[in-house]
This record gives sequence, structure tokens and C-alpha cells, in this order.
Amino acid sequence: MPKTPFVTKDQIVEIAEQFPTPFHLYDEAGLRRCARDVREAFAWNPGFTEYFAVKANPNPRLISILAEYGCGCDCSSDTELMLSDALGIRGEHIMFSSNDTPAEDFRLAHQLGAIVNFDDISHIDFYERATGSLPETACCRFNPGGLFQLANGIMDNPGDSKYGMTEQQLAQALTELSARGVERLGIHAFLASNTHGNEYYPALARILFELAVRLERTTGVRIGFVNLSGGVGIPYRPDETPCDIRAIGEGVRRAYEDVLVPAGMGDVAIYTEMGRFMTGPYGCLVTRAIHEKHIYKDYIGVDANACDLIRPAMYGAYHHITVMGQAGGPDKSAAEATCVYDVVGNLCENNDKFAVDRALPAVDTGDLLVIHDTGAHGHAMGYNYNGRLRHAEVLLRTDGTCELIRRAETPADYFATLDVTDTGRTLLARLQDKEN
Ligand SMILES: *Cc1c(COP(=O)(O)O)cnc(C)c1O
Repeated sequence: MPKTPFVTKDQIVEIAEQFPTPFHLYDEAGLRRCARDVREAFAWNPGFTEYFAVKANPNPRLISILAEYGCGCDCSSDTELMLSDALGIRGEHIMFSSNDTPAEDFRLAHQLGAIVNFDDISHIDFYERATGSLPETACCRFNPGGLFQLANGIMDNPGDSKYGMTEQQLAQALTELSARGVERLGIHAFLASNTHGNEYYPALARILFELAVRLERTTGVRIGFVNLSGGVGIPYRPDETPCDIRAIGEGVRRAYEDVLVPAGMGDVAIYTEMGRFMTGPYGCLVTRAIHEKHIYKDYIGVDANACDLIRPAMYGAYHHITVMGQAGGPDKSAAEATCVYDVVGNLCENNDKFAVDRALPAVDTGDLLVIHDTGAHGHAMGYNYNGRLRHAEVLLRTDGTCELIRRAETPADYFATLDVTDTGRTLLARLQDKEN
């Protein structure tokens, strides 16, 4: 399937005149379509809630759009909780799925009345010591160990992951939480990331539903919800097929009717914590070619770098690139790929490459490039190596206008935490003088 950007060449040229490159651009229409599709896919389950994994894209403007469709927030740190709180998303609309959790984070989760997803049995006492009581609603994270396999092969290695509890610990944790007055309880597992095909959630659901039935029988504790967490993938590569969320919802419904309904557990709510699937495809990094270099290979140097998108450098992740062209020049977005380039950023790290040996149309200096699928773990994973500053985030509204939803960092932001030193204060004062 060819991958096409959600903006045309003329649109992107116009947007880049309004906002200096590079920037992440988000597609409001796509985001809304996705949130609506998710809600409809699970509408058969009256308690269904998607808790958007805030770590994927912590921009409040985007989170509040998702909230219009009933999405809550899946938070994992105190600052993510603060964001959620500031948006009025509190109480049972927050799933606090953290691990190795500091006491302060539990205290804030408690103040906000969040559902607390315990990563370990020892965190129950830790939480009570930190907050003075236990949450009203709690979840326990399961780790089945071993390898997680589906018909199409091994998906991941839970036995090697730091998350969750064994089944025995899970039974004990639920028994304790219930005995100590926690009113609603659920179970959670995250067994594979960026999965393709529509089998992952249904297979995970079946595992967790069967576990829920066993746990109710052995402990007598009522399981109020099953949290399928994240892991639904997106097609980063042009030859990958997008997941069909309706088919996924139907698959989960079949497992529900096969396992939970016959066990008299037809009132269990389904929760999800998708991040990548909700925002990934609805963002792109817009960057401009500023250099071309020909040595042993051909390089295109762009004005973005790994501080804007670390996934290729960190995981060798593939992000599709469309060369758009520039004002007054041809539309290259559908042009034939006649060249092979490494597309690189300016960090002093040889892995700062958005693409290696990528077939692309001939790029001219000044051309705009769209790096696809940066809506999740794009800006969110940004950092400041080499003193590089993180760039802006822009929302393409459904009416075609654009809105700045996060400004680019400035040198003053970069030096701000040095205000405890004389040099830092000098640097900041100089920047202040320059502005005045
Ligand atoms: C990362 C994460 C998610 C979101 O995962 P995606 O693959 O982005 O959907 C959900 N829950 C937890 C606990 C996570 O760590």
C-alpha cells in the first residue's frame, strides 16, 4: 500500500511559510476518526474505556481532543498526572500504570482518585505507607513469564521483562486488596508492542479472561474489569497492513462471549491503554533539506535531528519519508524514486539518520520532506543532546487552518536549569539583553 502524507505539497509549502521547519504536524481529522472508530469497535461493552497512554504524546491539545470521545488518561509519572489533572481528567478517568514508582507519584495519583495499576505485590504496602490508605479502584499487572506466541510466531518475551506479577502473586495481591477494602478490582497485562494483524488483543483477552475466571474461583474476589493495555501497532512500512480496530473489537467480543459470559462474568468492563495506535499515524515530522553531500554514499542533511525523533537512532526503526518539493518547484510527492540516500540530522552521532540507503526521488536543497508516523514517541521522546533544542508542534485543524500547540524550545529553555550557577545566570542575562 503506498503511503501518502495527510497533507498535499501545496498545503505543506504554505504551512512551512507560517511555521519555520522543522516541526511535528498533527492531523486533527485523523485523530478524531481514530478515536471514533475505537469507541465504536468496543461499543458492545458498556463499561469500555480507552485510557490514552500519555507517554506516547503528552500534548494537552491532543489529549483533550481524545477526551471528547470518552478517552481517559493512562499516566505513568507525576508530571503526566499533573497534565491530566489540568485537563480536568481525574478520578476513574485516570489509569495510573507505573512501575518502580516513587512515593510522590503514588501520593498524587491518590489525591486525584486515580485507578492504581499495581506493578508488584510489594507496591500495595508501599502505596499505603505513602498515602495512608489504599485506592478505591485498583488493578494488578500480570506477567505470565516465558515467551508470548501467536500462530504467526513469537511476539515478545515476557519472561525477560521487568513488569508485572506472577499468577500466584496476582491471586495474593487481589485477595489482600479486597480484604483491605478496595472496592473495584481488575487485571492488566502488556505482552507485546507494535503488533500487526488483528490477533493480539483477542489472544491477550482470552488469556486474561481465563485468568479472571480462575482468579474469581480461587480467591472469591470479583473482577470488575480487564485492562488490555497497549500494543496495537501501526503500519510504519508501506507494505504493512493497518490493524482493523473493528475486527479487533469483534475478536475481543468473541473471547468475552466464549469465556466470561458462560462463567457468569458478563458484566466485566474492558479497558485499553493504546498510545501508538491512537496518535502515531496522525503526526509527521516536517523538515527541510539544507545540505547534500556526496562522499562514499549520498547524504541529504535535513534541519531536524534525532532530538526530534529518536526511534530510528534508538531502535533502527523505519519511518517512511515522502519528498514533497518546495515553493515554485515541482510536486515530488508521487515522483519516482531514482536516488538512494542516507537522510541525516546534525548530531555528532553517526546513528543520527532518519533513513539509511533509502530510495527516494532526487532531493534538492530547500525541499520539504515529510517523515511519517511521528504522532507517537516522536516529540515525546525528544532530548537535548549536542545542545539541540526540541522543535514545535503544530495542529492541522479539520477546517484546514493550523494552530501552534507547543512552541519550539529556545536557548533560554536550555539554560534555565543552570540558574543555580553564575555562568548560567550570565548566559540567561545575555539572552535577556539580546531580546530587549
Ligand atoms: C507504553 C504503554 C502503553 C501504550 O502502548 P502502545 O504500544 O503505545 O499502545 C500502555 N500501557 C502501558 C503500561 C505502557 O507502558
